[in-house]
Amino acid sequence: MAKKDYYEVLGLDKSASQEDLKKAYRKLAMKFHPDRNPDDKSAEEKFKEASEAYEVLSDTEKRKIYDQYGHEGMKSAFGRGGFDMNDFYRHHQGDLGDIFSQIFGGGIFDGIFGSSGRRDPNAPLDGSDLRFDLEVDLEEAVFGTDKTVKIPRLETCKTCAGSGCEPGTKRKTCQRCSGSGQIGISQGFFSIRQTCPACKGAGQVIEKPCHSCGGQGRVNHEKTLKIHIPPGVDTGSRMRVSGEGEGGMRGGENGDLYVYIHQRPHEIFQREGLDLLCEIPIDFATAALGGTVEVPTVTGKESLKIPEGSQNGAVLRLKNKGVPSIKGGHRGDQHIRIFIEVPKKLSKEQRELLEAYRDSVAGSKDAHPIMGGFFERAKRFFSGDA
Ligand SMILES: [Zn+2]
Ligand SMILES: [Zn+2]
Repeated sequence: MAKKDYYEVLGLDKSASQEDLKKAYRKLAMKFHPDRNPDDKSAEEKFKEASEAYEVLSDTEKRKIYDQYGHEGMKSAFGRGGFDMNDFYRHHQGDLGDIFSQIFGGGIFDGIFGSSGRRDPNAPLDGSDLRFDLEVDLEEAVFGTDKTVKIPRLETCKTCAGSGCEPGTKRKTCQRCSGSGQIGISQGFFSIRQTCPACKGAGQVIEKPCHSCGGQGRVNHEKTLKIHIPPGVDTGSRMRVSGEGEGGMRGGENGDLYVYIHQRPHEIFQREGLDLLCEIPIDFATAALGGTVEVPTVTGKESLKIPEGSQNGAVLRLKNKGVPSIKGGHRGDQHIRIFIEVPKKLSKEQRELLEAYRDSVAGSKDAHPIMGGFFERAKRFFSGDA
């Protein structure tokens, strides 16, 4: 899409005065500011468009170039990323400060345009939140535990309390930019302003860097923390440990630490939410006759009644032997899937007993109702009566 003419954006013609520009910009800023149009991308675009137009036309030199060469002439007017709202705000605190304070109630632009916006380098900087991935066993997830972990992180330097200045010294005004944070550079036929490389836009430099942190305000440190894991956590559970993230600078707050839980697979139990599933092998005689078997649960051994005539793959349930809910009050069940193990090697005596058993049940529909039904259907199929 072709870029709109700056005069057109502001609804003005080429003879517009500085006063006209400001009036037009105020009107558009009030209307389209993102704070007043939450979640409206097109309003934000219009607000940026108006700001960019004002940025160029309110600057006598830029306006001259724009009038002569149009958008083509503006190519190198902005930084590599193009027009930047945060730079705009900084440049125009003087002439637009009253509009800004009217929109933001005296607040600051920071954060409105997302993380791409540069911050005031002198402002307190909060530490980032950190993520730590922690593996736990099923038993630990069921009963809860305390874990000691080592978190490598940047901490606020204790020597300088995060200021970066050697104790007893201060920051001083940057000589390169005389404290403005910006320097003029001529490029081709006009000059542009750039962030001062000496102070990185802060306007101030550290007179004597702190000997502990080299002026960074923070130091790398491996912190040992004890983390309480409540009963009921699962893979994907997230716990916030307030203030244990990265340290702040220049009086900023510490970030938080987020602990992400991963539960290791268990050799007996499979977890499905709050329920546990395990498979137990039983002999076919017990499956036929019924009986009691001992099964493992997370709280110890339990007796499980096998009903008479249990089939392979049948699932039985032990109530409240699963995982407790992390919110409390509820506990899952343990499901037990039966696997009937057919005997592999028989003694002579066992073989004779089984053969006698087979002769005894041969053709009995009561003993094998599925087989009985199947062979009846097969017989009908072969005789053509189906
Ligand atoms: Zn320090
Ligand atoms: Zn400077």
